[in-house]
Amino acid sequence: MLDARIADCFACPRLVEWRTSIAEVKRASFRDQEYWGRPLPGMGPPDASIAILGLAPAAHGGNRTGRIFTGDRSGDVLFAALYRAGLANQPTSVSADDGLALRHTRIFAAVRCAPPDNKPLPEERDTCAPWFQRELQLIRPTLRVVVALGAFAWAAWWPAMTAAYGIRPPVPRPKFGHSAQVSVPGAPVLLGCFHVSQQNTFTGRLTPAMLDEVFGRAKVLAGLA
Ligand code: SF4
Repeated sequence: MLDARIADCFACPRLVEWRTSIAEVKRASFRDQEYWGRPLPGMGPPDASIAILGLAPAAHGGNRTGRIFTGDRSGDVLFAALYRAGLANQPTSVSADDGLALRHTRIFAAVRCAPPDNKPLPEERDTCAPWFQRELQLIRPTLRVVVALGAFAWAAWWPAMTAAYGIRPPVPRPKFGHSAQVSVPGAPVLLGCFHVSQQNTFTGRLTPAMLDEVFGRAKVLAGLA
């Protein structure tokens, strides 16, 4: 129900135009495919204990396949790590009907439509925040840990935490860093992780071992290991 409502959102004119134009023009290598070209709901069981929070869908990844982190290099790295951690049933995510299933884990993004240059505007982040908050409310009963992929997701967490849990963020707000961990009483533990972008993984700033450490710690904090 919520997923269907998210997929039918047209609230940000710039992003609606962008996601639609990308879906019409397409990348040459995908020209025979029908692009999704709409907002992306979250993925994973509604009783997840671990949430992974990303920035926004990729133009030719999620915006093409209709599933978050699916069909691009970022997803290749992320789902391989989730598989190694036992949180996914297969190491790849290539299309919405490829049989991938997550265990104990739900993935969503702070902004649900692909933005130009992967950079949503502050007002687009704020306009999209209610979708994130509603999804958070739904998984709140079982949620124990949130892994924020990058500084944008880290910053988006605080207002969502206040909306879903009625808890104010610490002052000053904890800074994002890879492996940073913040425990606010009454809220899920927040873990920082460098984003799985090509920029980070191709340069070695984020390695598979670093991802394994973060997801291993998330499992322990969630009571899964
Ligand atoms: S970014 Fe969010 S609020 Fe804006 S159109 Fe997409 S789904 Fe709607």
